[in-house]
Amino acid sequence: MPAPKGLEAVLYISNAIPVEGRWISREQVMGSSWSDLRRLIQTLGLELQAFCLNDGLETKGKEYFSAAEEALRVQFEEIIDKQLELDPDWQIVFNLWLRGETEAELKSLVEIGLARIDEEIKEDPSRWWVSKVRQRVLLALSIRQLIDCMAHPENLRDANSTDLFDQSQWAWARFRIKDGKVDFHLSVLIAILEGIPVERVRECPICLKYFWAGRINMRCCSTRHATALRMREYRKSDKAV
Ligand SMILES: [Zn+2]
Repeated sequence: MPAPKGLEAVLYISNAIPVEGRWISREQVMGSSWSDLRRLIQTLGLELQAFCLNDGLETKGKEYFSAAEEALRVQFEEIIDKQLELDPDWQIVFNLWLRGETEAELKSLVEIGLARIDEEIKEDPSRWWVSKVRQRVLLALSIRQLIDCMAHPENLRDANSTDLFDQSQWAWARFRIKDGKVDFHLSVLIAILEGIPVERVRECPICLKYFWAGRINMRCCSTRHATALRMREYRKSDKAV
């Protein structure tokens, strides 16, 4: 069974968080100054740094779409529909496409993003850019938290298991009236995740990456790791004998 539309991008974000970054708390993100947040972002992978910091569409103007962004738009068309412009920060949908960029390109986007905010913070007391980046970090961490709940549904018994997502702008529903009827708008992220069968969202026991099990008996992210797992189990049973 192929992965549902958009899920691959969500898994990509979850897997871009280094394993040691899984314990970053809500307080570390929400209550931090820009210099703390800046340091925190730099502990994340390069792709994730670019995801949090890039604002290409903002600087180029919303009419601008590169070939990659256009490809993304086509892929997400069904989900995005007319909702995109209502999302709290629609740049993030395009930033998912940065995973196709080279390391040099990502580095330069990160540098531009950091320099822009360093500059903004001096002049703009509202710190709008910082709150935007903060929300993106929170989104990335909360996506991982949700994916982890899917891979380990037993974790949902814990009331705190989705606390990051509950704090995220993307968890908000927006009230609107369309054709004379109440029509709540939900974010693109919620549109992607709703209805996902959790039995196929798994965590690879070898590398701890999350993956979609295209075949229901897949236990690992790759055949290489499936072989490694079999070896590990074989050695264990050998010792037991
Ligand atoms: Zn793996």
